[in-house]
Amino acid sequence: MSKPDIAPPPLRNDCFALPAGVNWTPVDDALALLRQRLTVVTAVETVSLHEAADRILAEDVTAKRSNPPQPNTAVDGYGFAGPAPDGPQVMPLQEGRAAAGFPFDGTVTEGNALRVLTGAALPSGVDTVILEEDVTVQGGHIAFHGPLKQGANTRRAGEDVAGGNLVLPGGRRLTPADLALLSATGIAEVSVRKTLRVAVLSTGDELVEPGEAARPGQIFDANRPMLLSLIHRMGFQPVDMGRVADDRDALRDRLNAAAEQADVILTSGGASAGDEDHVSALLRQAGAMQEWRIALKPGRPLALGMWDGTPVFGLPGNPVAAMVCTLIFARPALGLMAGEGWQDPQGFDLPSAFEKRKKPGRREYLRARVRDGRVEVFASEGSGRISGLSWAEGLVEIEDGARHIKPGDLVRFLPYGSFGL
Ligand code: AMP
Ligand code: MG
Repeated sequence: MSKPDIAPPPLRNDCFALPAGVNWTPVDDALALLRQRLTVVTAVETVSLHEAADRILAEDVTAKRSNPPQPNTAVDGYGFAGPAPDGPQVMPLQEGRAAAGFPFDGTVTEGNALRVLTGAALPSGVDTVILEEDVTVQGGHIAFHGPLKQGANTRRAGEDVAGGNLVLPGGRRLTPADLALLSATGIAEVSVRKTLRVAVLSTGDELVEPGEAARPGQIFDANRPMLLSLIHRMGFQPVDMGRVADDRDALRDRLNAAAEQADVILTSGGASAGDEDHVSALLRQAGAMQEWRIALKPGRPLALGMWDGTPVFGLPGNPVAAMVCTLIFARPALGLMAGEGWQDPQGFDLPSAFEKRKKPGRREYLRARVRDGRVEVFASEGSGRISGLSWAEGLVEIEDGARHIKPGDLVRFLPYGSFGL
């Protein structure tokens, strides 16, 4: 059989070079667009403080009460009307005591002292406390060395938070310390956002479930467990929509189901413009698809679209690209939709332990970790190297322009924790 006379495509010297005449959107522009176009989609509900951990405040919260609510003693000791002058002091000890939760209901006479215990409200006539370790008690008197400033060893009412002042702003995701602050300032219930529901769906004929028998050519679905866990750690509610083959009707049905059950849909795979890229094809058919050619490595085009009113992030299938795109694009976008506002990851400039030359044109994210104060990167940049994702503890962000990084140069490290993981 004679071979048809077809010329192979011309060889490309550099398969990472940007296609001529095609506009690639810089990462910052893509982020700015998302930030500008997305809005909060979650409803508001009231929950008790005990259910409020990790929830997002729907509105500003003001203190119902000052903290401390009244002046009190910061130490165990003896209270009196200060200041005490320089030199040895002797004071008669008045009958009674003030303890935390048990205020002294009389008045301490000028020149007298009263036994006080940490946290006790300062009795009338007391504004200064001497530490018990600095005092000799004998014959109904105390003796100590002055001077002591007025107000020493006491806490002023409202010195931490004044009643009526802003305690926490709307959009705040409540931390353990926030719960302490809310409780201390008299707040028992808060108005919070319902948790953003994020559907996760894997696509690809080659995928099988871990635990199933994998035939030749099949691979285990790595993205779905990763993405579900990422969503959970970011404080959103993962909705597992399983796997779909590269079958347009099946995918359509699954997207319909996901749009019903979730506020946002994350798909992985099938988001480019190939024959089996049904996510992008369906979104395009629905007339609400943008193929974002983002100048980013690792990352194929990101398919962003609306499915029945629900935003869809069509992530690349490669696990490394899927995770990087989730952290860089989906994370702040989900935060905005969830009600916590747009949050850029907080990075650190640290000396590099590696050397790398980078061409201009794309921003790059390398799998990285910090050891002995220096940033190490994973040996291979291949986007199928899942072991590098697991090895890493964050990403190194290298700016869009050209760069030659030498050991010791400062590089921007974004710990996984800075994405809320
Ligand atoms: P695609 O974006 O569908 O062209 O997929 C790009 C590459 O990622 C292919 O090698 C896929 O086999 C692989 N891939 C896609 N989805 C997954 C997944 N869920 N887990 C692991 N690899 C995947
Ligand atoms: Mg595929």
